[in-house]
Amino acid sequence: MIPIALPFLGDEEANAAREAILSGWVSQGPQVAAFEREFSALVGAPYATAVSNCTTALHLALVAANIGPGDEVVTASHSFIATANSVRYCGATAVFVDINPDTYNIDPLKVAEAITPRTRAIIAVHQMGLPCDLPALAALARQHNLVLIEDAACAAGSEIRVDGIWERIGKAHGQITCFSFHPRKVITTGEGGMLTTSEPEFDRKFKLLRQHAMSVPDTVRHGASQTIFEQYLDVGFNYRMTDIQAAIGRTQLTKLDGIVTRRRALAARYTEMLGNIEGLRLPSEPDWARSNWQSYCVRLPDHVDQREIMQALLDQDIATRRGIMCSHREPAYAGEKPRHGLRQSELAQDRAILLPLYAQMTDDDQARVADAVRTELGM
Ligand SMILES: *Cc1c(COP(=O)(O)O)cnc(C)c1O
Repeated sequence: MIPIALPFLGDEEANAAREAILSGWVSQGPQVAAFEREFSALVGAPYATAVSNCTTALHLALVAANIGPGDEVVTASHSFIATANSVRYCGATAVFVDINPDTYNIDPLKVAEAITPRTRAIIAVHQMGLPCDLPALAALARQHNLVLIEDAACAAGSEIRVDGIWERIGKAHGQITCFSFHPRKVITTGEGGMLTTSEPEFDRKFKLLRQHAMSVPDTVRHGASQTIFEQYLDVGFNYRMTDIQAAIGRTQLTKLDGIVTRRRALAARYTEMLGNIEGLRLPSEPDWARSNWQSYCVRLPDHVDQREIMQALLDQDIATRRGIMCSHREPAYAGEKPRHGLRQSELAQDRAILLPLYAQMTDDDQARVADAVRTELGM
């Protein structure tokens, strides 16, 4: 069976977890602090805060930006449902805009059209690891005094060229960037998330609110020679990452560049092997973006049935997934009529499929996938 994805974990991560377990401190502690330092250094952001997953990271980002009832947040419907849900958690309204069919990312022109006097933030999703047009979105956010939050759940290791210089996603191009370490992403801690920012006030709020808004963290109380009583300064959350996860994450970070290099080579090879198939549209990068290729998404020719080809490939032990879902079509969002056209988002869900891609994928297995796709498409 060729799976859709496979986490790149081995003995090094198992040993790191073992050491953390045997250290006597397993909840948020020194491993989390070290993971934050190393992650912020890697992406080039002044501050990083580790949390339990990217859904909680997005929620914290919105809470820290004071988003609440009556506020609107412009974002993509074409995303994992957690993006829209994070807005709902705050009692605010997600205003969905359509994607550009070439990049699967939100179109800054459509974002501009969706801004109203109630708009307070934009959540830009770097879908499947491909960076959004951040300079355009950042300019829009500045012009309208909005908070630009990046949903970089899939984009650890992706890069964008800004003023001629390649920079990693997370280097505070918007105000806040949120990452996921779920096993479907390029590096994993089982479950896990990270927020990066260049603004100390946001960082202070993330670190306070992820731990119940506790005035003195447990790490400080344990090391103190005087008795300290803590206070709860606000209604916070338990969004902590554990030291076991952080120890795994630190090891994964050392492998990130190698994983991305391999994924980029595999993506380039798919593009080579699947070229010249009538009607099949392959993904591509703008010249200012380098994707980590969290997913390789192809648009099927018009006459091909999405479910049928996925089943035909599954019958040959090749797992695929349909295109990224649209939140506005899910029962949870059925009560809200979208304000803006979402045709490209719907087409991407209905007409695209994701092919298997993971760092350990062998050239032979990849050739088997490409051959099967070619045969099923009658080429
Ligand atoms: C995976 C994903 C999330 C949620 O991440 P978790 O860590 O599983 O909470 C959010 N947004 C996007 C775009 C994702 O792909």
